Amino acid sequence: AAAAPAAYLAGLNHEQRLAVETTEGPVLVLAGAGTGKTRVLTTRIAHLIATGRARPSDILAVTFTNKAAREMKARVGMLAGPAAEGMPWLGTFHAISTKILRRHAELVGLRSDFTILDVDDQIRLLKQVLQAANLDEKRWPARQLASHIDGWKNRALGPDQVPHGEAAAFANGRGAELYRHYQERLKILNAADFGDLLTETIRLFREHPDVLAQYQQRFRYMLVDEYQDTNVAQYLWLRLLAQGREPGHRNLACVGDDDQSIYGWRGAEVDNILRFEHDFPGAVVVRLERNYRSHAHILATASHLIAHNEGRLGKTLRTDDEPGEKVTITGAWDSEEEARLVGEEIEALQAKGHNLSEIAILVRISAQMRELEDRFVQLGLPYRVIGGPRFYERMEIRDALAYFRCVAQPADDLAFERILNTPKRGLGDATVQVLHAHARAARIPLMEAARFIVETEELKPKPRGALRELLSAFSRWSSLIDTTPQTELAEMILEESGYTEMWQKDRSAEAAGRLENLKELVRSLEEFPDLRAFLEHVSLVMDAVENDTEDRVSLMTLHAAKGLEFDTVFLPGWEEGLFPNQRALDESGRAGLEEERRLAHVGITRARRRAKIFFASNRRIHGLWNATIPSRFIDELPEDHVEVTEAPAAFSYGGYGKSRFDEVDSFSSSYATPGWQRAQNRGGFSGGGSRGGFAQGRGGYGGASGSGRGGLLIEGELVA
Ligand code: ATP
Ligand code: MG
Repeated sequence: AAAAPAAYLAGLNHEQRLAVETTEGPVLVLAGAGTGKTRVLTTRIAHLIATGRARPSDILAVTFTNKAAREMKARVGMLAGPAAEGMPWLGTFHAISTKILRRHAELVGLRSDFTILDVDDQIRLLKQVLQAANLDEKRWPARQLASHIDGWKNRALGPDQVPHGEAAAFANGRGAELYRHYQERLKILNAADFGDLLTETIRLFREHPDVLAQYQQRFRYMLVDEYQDTNVAQYLWLRLLAQGREPGHRNLACVGDDDQSIYGWRGAEVDNILRFEHDFPGAVVVRLERNYRSHAHILATASHLIAHNEGRLGKTLRTDDEPGEKVTITGAWDSEEEARLVGEEIEALQAKGHNLSEIAILVRISAQMRELEDRFVQLGLPYRVIGGPRFYERMEIRDALAYFRCVAQPADDLAFERILNTPKRGLGDATVQVLHAHARAARIPLMEAARFIVETEELKPKPRGALRELLSAFSRWSSLIDTTPQTELAEMILEESGYTEMWQKDRSAEAAGRLENLKELVRSLEEFPDLRAFLEHVSLVMDAVENDTEDRVSLMTLHAAKGLEFDTVFLPGWEEGLFPNQRALDESGRAGLEEERRLAHVGITRARRRAKIFFASNRRIHGLWNATIPSRFIDELPEDHVEVTEAPAAFSYGGYGKSRFDEVDSFSSSYATPGWQRAQNRGGFSGGGSRGGFAQGRGGYGGASGSGRGGLLIEGELVA
């Protein structure tokens, strides 16, 4: 070890090297944002490979997003050279679990080509389960059941393990029963939802110790990034793999930061960090204190803000970096003006030669994106959306994907049902019912049932003819799958099915955009060896398509920004009700507020050189104007490190023009008058002002904040 350090170790500080070179036994790196945790993991992988301790295929490395996995692969390749290529077990918990499950699917009652349901499919299936149970979906919404089931799966609880009190919370105590029916339906459909990917792998490991032993031996070294956001299921998953080994060989390295735990609402347990030393006795705990990412003003601002949280381990962070620019705070009249200001500042940076790819806009909820996107489109400013309701979730894309799924996986009932009558071909509810009845009775997939039914007299001649035509088209497409280039095949499917034509004939404003998206979809297929590989990718990849090289700004939710860094970060929408988000406060009280504050802290710490906070005094949500007041987080920022900038427009902190409020008033009556009056009278946002104003202001917001956590749950799933 006294020899000259390998090149990849050069530049690491003492603690980072310790974390890299302590290859044997459990290691926990507990450290703040930007201290090099991810870099430690990447270097550690390079080190394991370069020193011959492990082959790339012996290493299990877990990242939080697919994007992070791609980046880590690329970096390891840079550090350790071609020897590091092909890290087959580097990915998210979900991606790695999928890979394991496909190999042993039959042991958990699935076939290896099982379908991974997305949120939409999941909801559709739950609706069927509710119907079958004669429950009124209005009273007991499928989404609510979905969130219960997700919660149980996050904690690795099967239908039989749901605590009695919790099962009672839905449909008069029928929660667990519905959960069981849902699981049965999934098995019949040969499908797994996102939560299943983990829980079924856990079940596989528990029920088949020989399989578990095989993986315990294979994964000689395990690494986990963003450990603070693992949930119970993920924790059990890891523990099963790590603990089977001899005590001295539990080579598990986890890195995390309790101040960046932002998925509590999705079941993440920051306690997993606190339990680490207990579960893995003799663990080496490394703390990193030097931040290499952010200029001093930014780091000081973030540290000061997070210090308002009570439930934290607390840590020192320092930087040797220059002070840099202060964090700016800008108030806008309304969200449109805010979008305009953000656009102008980006253009100004661009004019000074800054790369757009070094600029990010981080929002609290995805609904904030549309106004920003509209503005960027107007300005001709190239942007990409990372995370959020993304490309693959758009209606036309989902329809197209359903066609592809039917071709590649003919047993995919949900896909078949989705496109059966899209475009309309006279195969309505009556036909669907006939097919369903037969499929259920014969326990066969819908398409197979359809092939049987068309040979009978069960359907009227017209639908029978239409169905026959569709089925023969599917046979034709399926027969081409191994011989025709996938882009050509995809185009053929969309043309011949009449799907493209459906949008060509459509007169609505969105039709052109949809056709554009379909083209983009076909284009994106080029990057995959075949249609199946592409579909697998789509099921897992919830990050936006990332491979174009054009210089663009990135737009994403704060949740999706974890682990990333940019020179300049825009943080719009710092208003009470929006951020902290009212739903988080309503549902989780003080804990919810602290999680929101951690989210704010994550946002600021993404910035290397510039962090720019914005708030608007009026925001339109779901078409209704709401008067808002600045976020309490703005009050919590340290005066010495922030700078209040005046919006160039006719805006001043002390004097909101009453007349404009009147104008707003005529749009909607959904906000509470006292709230905005108080906000108006507050005469500034940094004066530490009256909390009464906040409370009332928030009251005004609640009515229209439906795009809060409910929406995020879905987004969150997709981030994983
Ligand atoms: P987060 O908590 O936000 O995920 P992190 O702790 O994972 O942050 P990294 O992303 O690994 O931090 O590192 C932050 C930045 O600091 C990166 O640009 C990284 O390359 C750089 N960095 C880390 N360690 C060093 C070092 N020893 N010398 C120079 N730069 C470093
Ligand atoms: Mg990191």
